[in-house]
Amino acid sequence: MATQLLLSLDYELFFGAKTGTVQHCLINPVNALINVLDKHNVKVSLFVDVGFLIKLKEFSAEFPQLQQQYNLIQKQLLTLSIKSHDIQLHIHPHWEDSYYTKNGWVINTKRYRLHDFSEEEIVELVIKYKAELELCTHNKVFAFRAGGWCIQPFDKLKGALQKNNIWLDSTVYKNGYSDHPSRFINFNHLPNKPFWRFSNDPLKVDKKGYFVEIPINSIKTSPLFFWKLAYHKKFSKNLFKPFGDGEAITSNGSYYLDRLTKTTYGPAMIDGYKSTQLQQAYEQHINNAENNTIFNVMGHPKSLSQYSLKKLEEFLSKNKDIESVTYLDFLCLAPNETVI
Ligand SMILES: [Zn+2]
Repeated sequence: MATQLLLSLDYELFFGAKTGTVQHCLINPVNALINVLDKHNVKVSLFVDVGFLIKLKEFSAEFPQLQQQYNLIQKQLLTLSIKSHDIQLHIHPHWEDSYYTKNGWVINTKRYRLHDFSEEEIVELVIKYKAELELCTHNKVFAFRAGGWCIQPFDKLKGALQKNNIWLDSTVYKNGYSDHPSRFINFNHLPNKPFWRFSNDPLKVDKKGYFVEIPINSIKTSPLFFWKLAYHKKFSKNLFKPFGDGEAITSNGSYYLDRLTKTTYGPAMIDGYKSTQLQQAYEQHINNAENNTIFNVMGHPKSLSQYSLKKLEEFLSKNKDIESVTYLDFLCLAPNETVI
């Protein structure tokens, strides 16, 4: 069976002091990406940060330029969905506490994870976000990726997702770990399968479970890689410059220190310099006999660069036997009890 390439990108602005612009973080990089993908007949799945779209609408009465930004996004997503690209749900709930002023977005990440809200609030959020996303796609919305990979503990999100017929999750990656207090993740002990059913915990198979997990591929990275990355960031200008014009939330010092001194695991990505590892991640993947069907590579339009698009193009030219899929290709796994 040919390996299936699932390209899943989180469509969002930056959440640091500078969010960047819709044009540079979303519209331009997605157009550049689609130019590459069209040549190889590859489709993309976009996890759209819907909280942002809701805020654009909310503040557009006062700031008409936000309505134009919303229209640009909606047009891009609707056009993509007609062309069989996939539009799915990504939630960064800190938009609930963020607002717009004449100087731009004021981002408040105090409530960064869905878990920072009550179960009732989470249900309301998912209802509101899914309804908004349905205005931006002609296809079904049934898949989810948690913002910042914060899917655990799953119990608290489970009811809200199920009530909204969101039955497919694609958040976890093997050996993912963060002990950051507000962004805790622990993805050790993942089933070694391309996808599986689960009910209470995305890391535990339950063959009768309502939910399906399609994990993101993971890649083991040596400290040397991050030293090289630091070097390129400092010295290379245009080729490595990301499309996005914002700033990420700064991590604490130990985050950087760990990466420069220990072997770490991260999701396989097409972002910036990380795209260097694409071929290596793929080779590791196909050598793993039990788990070599779906190759799920993630990324962010804001973090793509001319360099990463070049790496992606090389990868697609080299591996012509890979078959492109989106989450829509897995609709056959939908649970029977889906509420209509
Ligand atoms: Zn995100």
